[in-house]
Amino acid sequence: MLTERCMVLRISERMKVGRPENIERAIEILKESLGKKISTREVDLVSYSHDYWPITLHWLIKGEVPALPDAVVWPESTEEVQLVVRTAHELNVPVYPYGGGSGVLGGTVPERGGIVVDLKRIRDVVLNEKDLIVEAGAGVNGYYLEKYLESKGYTLGHFPQSLYPSTVGGWIATKATGQFSTKYGGIEDMILGLEVVLPWGDIVTLPPHPRTATGPDLRKLFIGSEGVFGIVTRAWLKIWPMPEERIMISFVSDSLNDALKSVKKILRRGAKPAVVRIYDEIETKRHFYMFDEAYGKIMTVMILEGDKNVVEAERKIVEEEFQGRPLGEEPVEHWLKTRFDVKEASEFAPLGVVFDTIEVSSRWSNAVRLYENVRKAMMNVNGTLFASAHASHFYPQGVCFYFTFAGVPRGDPFEYYESVWDAAMRATLESGGSISHHHGIGRQRRKWLPEELDKAIEVLRRIKEALDERHVMNPGNMNL
Ligand SMILES: Cc1cc2nc3c(=O)[nH]c(=O)nc-3n(C[C@H](O)[C@H](O)[C@H](O)COP(=O)(O)OP(=O)(O)OC[C@H]3O[C@@H](n4cnc5c(N)ncnc54)[C@H](O)[C@@H]3O)c2cc1C
Repeated sequence: MLTERCMVLRISERMKVGRPENIERAIEILKESLGKKISTREVDLVSYSHDYWPITLHWLIKGEVPALPDAVVWPESTEEVQLVVRTAHELNVPVYPYGGGSGVLGGTVPERGGIVVDLKRIRDVVLNEKDLIVEAGAGVNGYYLEKYLESKGYTLGHFPQSLYPSTVGGWIATKATGQFSTKYGGIEDMILGLEVVLPWGDIVTLPPHPRTATGPDLRKLFIGSEGVFGIVTRAWLKIWPMPEERIMISFVSDSLNDALKSVKKILRRGAKPAVVRIYDEIETKRHFYMFDEAYGKIMTVMILEGDKNVVEAERKIVEEEFQGRPLGEEPVEHWLKTRFDVKEASEFAPLGVVFDTIEVSSRWSNAVRLYENVRKAMMNVNGTLFASAHASHFYPQGVCFYFTFAGVPRGDPFEYYESVWDAAMRATLESGGSISHHHGIGRQRRKWLPEELDKAIEVLRRIKEALDERHVMNPGNMNL
C-alpha cells in the first residue's frame, strides 16, 4: 500500500493499519482554509513518520518508516488548531500532536494514518515580571525560551537533555523533567495555567493562579497525557530570577549505596541542590575517564544555586553529610560542557548496535535492590554488551535511575530490543518501582502500563472514552 503514497520507503509491518476513510475530504477542507499550512508532499510525510524512538533508526536504515501520516499541518493559532481538530472529529480522522519530535517512545508515530499537527508555529512568548510568570505558545522551542528568559534576568529552571529540540507543549504532554529538577521541580511543578483544544474542537482555558481549590486540578489531567486527551496550545509557567550564586561540588565514593545515602540525608535536612547526579562504576568510567581518582569509584556531581545565603547554608549541609572524597569543581565543569552530547544512539545504529535509555523511579527503601535487579535483568538478555545507570533526579522519598544499554542482536534488532525492555520493565515492577520517571509511555511502553496502573487503567480508559469517544486524538498512544 505504501508504494501508492511513497516511492522510496516501506512501512514497517509492525504498525501498518491502513488509511482513514474520510481523509481525502478532510484534506480538501483543510486546504481551503489553511492553504500552504498543510502538506501532503512525500518529503513531509516521511519527515513526520517518526520521532526519536531509537529502534526506529534501525528501521529507517533498512528503508522502513514506522508509519506514514496522510498530511501534515502547521497551524499558527489556537483557532487554526481548533479547525483541524473539529474537521478531524467530524470526519473520524486521527490527529497526532507534534512538538519537537524528540520523544523517545514513538508518541508521535501516526500509526493509523491521518494528520500530524505540528505546533511549532504557535510560538509567542509574553513575560509577566510582576507575577514571575511566562506565557508561552505550545510550539515555543525550549532553548529559545530559556535564552529569552535569561536575557531578561530570569530562568525557567527546566533543562531536559533535549532542551534544543523540544517544545513547551511536548514537555507538558510527556511530563518532562530537567537536569536541575531537584531544586526547580519537573514541568508539573512549573505549570500554572493551560489552554487546550479538546478532541471535539472546543477550546478550554485554565488560567494561571498560584493555587486553586476549585475541584480536582484539571491542569493535571493534561500534564503527561501525551496528546490523547487534547492538544495543548498555550501554557503559563513559573519563572525564577537568575541565581545570584552557583557552587559546584563533586565527590567520589566507594559504593553507589554510600553516595545514595548521602544525598538522601542532604535532602532530608532540607537542602535542595539544583543538580545531583550519581554515576555507577561503569558510567563513571564512561563519562569521567579523565579523572584518575574516579577510576573504579562512584562519581557524584552537584550544583547548588540561588540566593547567596541559602546556597552557603546548603553547601554546609552537603559538606557535613556527604560520605566520599571531595573532587572539586572540575568534574562538574566537565559535566556542564558535555551535558547535551547525545550522539550515541545515532552513531551506534548504523553499526548494528542497539542502544537505548530507560528511566524508572524507586522509593529509597527499594532503590539499590531495584538498580541491581534491573541491571542484572538487562545484562542477562543474549547480546547485551553493557547495562549501566546513573541516578539523575532526587526527592526526599526516592530517586530516578536512568539506565543505558547497548547490545548486538543475534537476529532481528526489534526482538532483542523488546527482550531488554521486557526484562527492565518486569524487574522494575517486581522491585516496587514505577516504569517511567519522565519519558512517558508512548507506543514503546504501552503494553506494560496496565500492569503498573492495575485497576486505575480503567479510569484512564473511561476518561478517554468520555473526552474522545471517536478516538481521533493520537489513537493507540499509551494504548488509549
Ligand atoms: C537526546 C534526548 C534527551 C532527552 N532528555 C530528556 C530529559 O532530560 N528529560 C525529559 O523529560 N525528556 C527527555 N527526552 C525526551 C523528550 O525530549 C521529551 O519527552 C520532550 O518533552 C518531548 O518534547 P517534544 O516537543 O519533542 O515532543 P514530541 O516528541 O513532539 O511529542 C511527544 C509526545 O507529546 C505529544 N505532544 C507534543 N506536543 C503536544 C501538544 N502541544 N499538545 C498535546 N500533545 C503534544 C505528542 O503527540 C507525543 O505523544 C530526551 C530525548 C532525547 C532524544
